[in-house]
Amino acid sequence: MPELQGQVAIVTGASRGIGKAIALGLAERGASVIINYQSNAQSAAEVVSAIEAAGGSAIAYAADVTVETEVAAMVEEVIGRWGRIDILVNNAGVTRDNLIHRLKDEQWEAVIEIDLTSAFVCCRAVLPWMQSRRYGRIVNVSSLAGLTGNVGQANYAAAKMGLIALTKALAREVATDGITVNAVAPGYIETDMLESVPAWLRTWALDVIPVGRFGRPEEVASAVIFLASPAASYIIGHTLVVDGGWVMP
Ligand code: NAP
Repeated sequence: MPELQGQVAIVTGASRGIGKAIALGLAERGASVIINYQSNAQSAAEVVSAIEAAGGSAIAYAADVTVETEVAAMVEEVIGRWGRIDILVNNAGVTRDNLIHRLKDEQWEAVIEIDLTSAFVCCRAVLPWMQSRRYGRIVNVSSLAGLTGNVGQANYAAAKMGLIALTKALAREVATDGITVNAVAPGYIETDMLESVPAWLRTWALDVIPVGRFGRPEEVASAVIFLASPAASYIIGHTLVVDGGWVMP
């Protein structure tokens, strides 16, 4: 029997890129998956169709994960339909890059809200349901930028490092409730987000990444799916780096 059969997973930002790969992988292992997205309904519907065509179960749900009432409505829909939430993957994220002296308040605030505050909002909304069943897996999608910092990404690095701190603090809070909270920190992964990285930086990165290529969304998904599985029961507050060896100590 697939290892996640009967489980229910919410994946934020699952219409594209890494979130889509995570959703497809969770569904393949038997979970029913909520494909959260913000505006790209067509892409989200295609993810649902792909899951259903493979015999899985999924729904698309538009909710801005920075807005508490929209997240609450999404959780209510999931509970009304399935009565449980086993897995939350906080994956939705954006970049608004600029050198700090040019960084506008709205660029700072958007990234902190979407990449960090959203995870707090979603965790707080699902935790009572996980605690009531004494089981849960939360995986936060951080970034190498949150570990190393990046020129032009003060907002993004602060949000992604904040997400790692949130992961550790919450992991301690809920460790005795049967709930694990962990993070993954991807390097450069081939998605729409990578398009916004300047060409010179991508060329330089290919030289310094030991494996000599960018990662694929599925390669991040497999790390997330492991942390989201029952098998990862004794891994708490960890950040799993998925970067082709880029920053190995
Ligand atoms: P992507 O292809 O740009 O997709 C972003 C996803 O987030 C989309 O599904 C988008 O929905 C959703 N989203 C954005 N704002 C949202 C909001 N307010 N509410 C709900 N959903 C929202 O990004 P990606 O490259 O797959 O990145 C996924 C995660 O991995 C992000 O947290 C990113 O920071 C992290 N990451 C990426 C890389 C990389 O190289 N790609 C590296 C390290 C970390 P719509 O389709 O509706 O717009």
